Amino acid sequence: AQKQRLATYAAGVGAGPAMAPEKVYPLAHGAKLVLKTGDITTESVDAIVNAANERMLGGGGVDGAIHRAAGPQLVRACAEVKEVEPGVRCPTGEARITRGFQLPAKHVIHTVGPIYENDRVSAPLLASAYRSSVQLAQENGLVSMSFPGISTGVFGYPFDKAAQVAVSTVDEAVAAAGEGGSVKEVRFVIFNRPLYDEFVTAAEKLL
Ligand code: ADP
Repeated sequence: AQKQRLATYAAGVGAGPAMAPEKVYPLAHGAKLVLKTGDITTESVDAIVNAANERMLGGGGVDGAIHRAAGPQLVRACAEVKEVEPGVRCPTGEARITRGFQLPAKHVIHTVGPIYENDRVSAPLLASAYRSSVQLAQENGLVSMSFPGISTGVFGYPFDKAAQVAVSTVDEAVAAAGEGGSVKEVRFVIFNRPLYDEFVTAAEKLL
């Protein structure tokens, strides 16, 4: 039974890293989109994006992994981000930037995706989280950035829909920045194989 559970885990969420190929797709203005499986905390890029919460003081999932890898300076930098209302540093659909501290990435862009309710309510918020993150990277002159699958963990967004919103929004945001936009490489670093497969499906369809 233990062996069976391990096999199920490996097939479902087991960091499929070495098991899935890295795929590259073209975006506007000579930029590229990369799909891969793996752990986002190991990415050597200008910014990794954190699927944070509105308080921005850490949490579970990828948020916890990023804070552990960045070290305690990250939560201190987050605490310094101005609250827009009590307990809210980054409203859902927006993004904030800090340094990366002990991470190989230079910066962390913290964004907050929606808890999935339905497509009408949730899709615009998820798109806004991706768009705001790309825009903040452009404003800071960043060239490379890595995203996790925002809202696809405890926030419960269906994988196929989340992947479509992610790929189409990043494609539009890079195009909208024009030829002079700084962002030239957007990487999706996906922790589990089923979600990675949905990203491949979305990219094959949309790009
Ligand atoms: P949310 O609250 O936005 O759903 P979660 O952290 O629960 O955030 O999950 C978001 C996604 O991040 C999920 O697909 C989860 O599998 C993934 N994830 C968790 N840890 C990591 C990691 N170290 N690197 C990349 N992705 C991760």
